[in-house]
Amino acid sequence: MSSSTSSSRSHTGRQTTGIPKRCWCGADVTTFGAQTKENLFRRFYRCEIGVKRKSEHHLFKWVDEAILDEVTSVDEKHSQLKVDVDSFKMQTARRFENQAKQIDQTIQEIKLLMAANTENSKTKENSTLTTEDTITSPSMAYGGSNPLTNIAVAAFALGTMAWIYSRIAN
Ligand SMILES: [Zn+2]
Repeated sequence: MSSSTSSSRSHTGRQTTGIPKRCWCGADVTTFGAQTKENLFRRFYRCEIGVKRKSEHHLFKWVDEAILDEVTSVDEKHSQLKVDVDSFKMQTARRFENQAKQIDQTIQEIKLLMAANTENSKTKENSTLTTEDTITSPSMAYGGSNPLTNIAVAAFALGTMAWIYSRIAN
């Protein structure tokens, strides 16, 4: 009967991955120390019933093997997570780059529009002081005072949020 604690128990056909919490008979599993010569004091998982009724097939798993399982699975999850984060970073960088280009383009267009307006007002009236200020000062050109800039910024924020949401929802 002492051989029942050897690792040749896989003939039961039931394999558990990681640290077992419950035997397939429904009982909680606890750890016991092996009494065999080749595995003396090596810890294993088994339910109380399995320990008492050695002829029955109950869950058996070495503790060190179970821990190794857990570590391996955590490692796999970790590498998968790293791949996900890396691709997320790359996509984010690429997207922000594209959006920054679009915003730059929009701002260029707004500047051109404003320059055209200034040219018009220069010829029409002599109130060039305030309009020239608007073009040369970046804080004014990029500020929220212009409705076109507002729309561009809002569209950018909305697009980013929608994209982040779609990433989270997946
Ligand atoms: Zn059991």
